[in-house]
Amino acid sequence: MGAGRYDVIVVGVRIAGAATAMLLARQGLRVLAVDRVSFPSDTVSSHQLQVPGVALLQQWGLLGQLTGADTPPVRRVRLDAGDGLVMDGQFPAHAGADALYSPRRTLLDSILVDAARAAGAEVRENFRVTELTASGDQITGIRGQTRGRRVVTETASLVIGADGKRSLVAGAVGAPRYRERAAQSFASYSYWAGVPVSGGELYQRPGRAVAVFPTNDDLTMVYVAAPMTEFATARADLEGHYLRALDTCGDMGERIRSGSRAERIRTTPDQPNLFRRPHGPGWALAGDAGVVMDSVSAQGMTSGLRDAGLLSAAVVAGLGGSRPLDAALRDHQRQRDRAIRGMYDFTLRLAALSPITAVQRRFLAAVGADQQETSRFLGAFAGIVPPEQYFTLGTALRVFGSRAIRRPPAAGLLAGCD
Ligand SMILES: Cc1cc2nc3c(=O)[nH]c(=O)nc-3n(C[C@H](O)[C@H](O)[C@H](O)COP(=O)(O)OP(=O)(O)OC[C@H]3O[C@@H](n4cnc5c(N)ncnc54)[C@H](O)[C@@H]3O)c2cc1C
Repeated sequence: MGAGRYDVIVVGVRIAGAATAMLLARQGLRVLAVDRVSFPSDTVSSHQLQVPGVALLQQWGLLGQLTGADTPPVRRVRLDAGDGLVMDGQFPAHAGADALYSPRRTLLDSILVDAARAAGAEVRENFRVTELTASGDQITGIRGQTRGRRVVTETASLVIGADGKRSLVAGAVGAPRYRERAAQSFASYSYWAGVPVSGGELYQRPGRAVAVFPTNDDLTMVYVAAPMTEFATARADLEGHYLRALDTCGDMGERIRSGSRAERIRTTPDQPNLFRRPHGPGWALAGDAGVVMDSVSAQGMTSGLRDAGLLSAAVVAGLGGSRPLDAALRDHQRQRDRAIRGMYDFTLRLAALSPITAVQRRFLAAVGADQQETSRFLGAFAGIVPPEQYFTLGTALRVFGSRAIRRPPAAGLLAGCD
């Protein structure tokens, strides 16, 4: 197709990179995908895969491997907003999927890497990209090192950076940033044995968001988000800070203490929020390298899989000659931004971890009293329905009835229940 040895080189082979490599290879492109780590490999991330992400795995024929590894499905979620405000319901189905899964990254990322290989992509592990090669402003390939420090150069028509939020590829090409916001929260999570849960549990407290989901090996993943402004002081005792947050969540603190911690607590303040222009001459970006946001909404993996689908379709069209590559990649940016913008804004509001207002309280109480509305609300919370399509005047009218016309709820509520 092109001048390089490969049609496409993908840098980074986790969620976005492995899925992109797999989809491109399935279309017959010559794909090299490299990662500095070897798989199975863990990473600093909790791992709720939302229903739309699960639907993509199903569409790509990979869901069976997840369920085959005894990853528990979660169909029911209980959202406790404090002071007795509880919404307990099921996610709406989406594209044939009706459950969220929370697979360990050691499992999910390996499933995707294996699928990329099975599709015909050449996957090189333990290969660290150190620079891009270029001819003028056209990116022509990568240079990097094997574990034995052998320097290798490879060429391709297109280099895709799927190398995460601190993307070397984005940095090398100077990809312009937009919609950037300061990091709002830091996150801590760990795995607990002997803390059984029947579904997902979410807790919203002033200054805290907590998520509890079952994962592989009969463990329960427990995640706490707190404001970045507390990070400097919390550092002195991160475990105490984490456990005190759980003590504000009903009997969660007690349940955790009656179980045992199976792994160390991982904490990160590295939660940037930004979009990058995802294309230029000879390069493109996928996943967190292109858009990254706070983990509080647990959307990054689902977005990464969706982005892989959108980008690979654009690349197949562009390199296959059915349309100019730069036009196809510009379309990818438009589609990506449209798909993620509403959730990005919603996530930033959640990440503020603000106390809920009186109007929001009334709204949530009315939602919680109606199973159908609870399901719709959970659908927006999880990105099954784009939040900007749920938090509308129409929803307020449906939930509040004519009271909404006499006394319209605050715009903040409609913009995402913040
Ligand atoms: C605390 C926390 C909790 C989270 N919880 C969730 C959640 O519950 N649900 C959810 O959907 N998302 C969650 N996320 C977000 C999620 O982790 C990311 O969105 C997702 O991992 C992005 O996938 P990616 O493939 O784009 O990038 P990454 O997973 O970051 O993968 C990038 C890959 O590139 C490789 N790489 C980087 N540089 C180089 C180089 N120079 N050479 C070779 N290889 C390189 C890395 O080794 C890595 O394997 C969370 C994030 C954090 C921080």
